[in-house]
Amino acid sequence: MADADHTDVRLFRMPEVSLAGSVPLAPLLRARFEPDLGMELDGARFVLTFHQIATQIDVLDGVPVLINLYPWRSHVTVRIEVAGRLVLQHPFAVRDAIAGPLQRELARQDPAVTHWGYEIVALGDVPRPAARSRRRNRIEELPDPPLPVAALADFGVDDPPGLAATAVTVVLAAPVAAALDALGGPVELGGLLFGQVYADAAGPDRQIVHVGELAAVRGGAATATSFTFPAGAFLGIDHADRGRRLVGWYHTHVADEGDLRLSPADVVLHTGSFRRPWQVALLAGPVRDGRAVRAYSLTGGRLTRVPVHTAAGKPA
Ligand SMILES: [Zn+2]
Repeated sequence: MADADHTDVRLFRMPEVSLAGSVPLAPLLRARFEPDLGMELDGARFVLTFHQIATQIDVLDGVPVLINLYPWRSHVTVRIEVAGRLVLQHPFAVRDAIAGPLQRELARQDPAVTHWGYEIVALGDVPRPAARSRRRNRIEELPDPPLPVAALADFGVDDPPGLAATAVTVVLAAPVAAALDALGGPVELGGLLFGQVYADAAGPDRQIVHVGELAAVRGGAATATSFTFPAGAFLGIDHADRGRRLVGWYHTHVADEGDLRLSPADVVLHTGSFRRPWQVALLAGPVRDGRAVRAYSLTGGRLTRVPVHTAAGKPA
């Protein structure tokens, strides 16, 4: 249980998930429940009991879009007492009881911002090292053995000169590139990427991620604008099999208005479940002059676009 007077909503700028500040919860609850109850709630006591019901990303559409970065608190039983008298005790979706009034407040205060992430933090919460460190789909971060060394030339790829070096360069096996090009349909499709990771001979702290295989995930929630993995999608993946590492995930966008880029929900999914620096997100979809595949990896906590090539051969 948490007292609303000791509970804050932390706000994050999206898609980079950088902490922007926090707002107290009690005024939001007063604004939300005063019209329903037809009374002033200035001296009221709010007692909140959070429940986990949602297991998927919890997004409130509208302006601005609000993304619950702590979906274990997806529902809340709100108990309101006025002068010691119980006036309301009822469960609500966090999206309704908290994100709704927050959305109206943010639209007024910061109309230029289109997407916010938020999480509810109560006094006495065990501090969490990172905003999403308890995501259930998180892949365990085991210490890595030394990586085999390779150069882009080993894959038959010419390293284009003059481009800024990125930590990760993606090389798609030719059949993977062809399969990504052929994906399409009325809703987003997606799945997991398997392959191998190499230390890039071009420089220290750089890696080449070779994607050898796409594994489509069925049963995920997919619409024209979003893709989420079903619960259990990551179970049974054998990390000890060094010839077949989980190197990331892929999905398609159906309509992107000519500017193919990850959505805030995609960023949340990646930063929650694919935390290794060499795990990549591949995004396939329409661009102005056809179709394209884009690749992204986490660099310094941000999802950054990285180069993607198609292999003309296999490393020796
Ligand atoms: Zn997407």
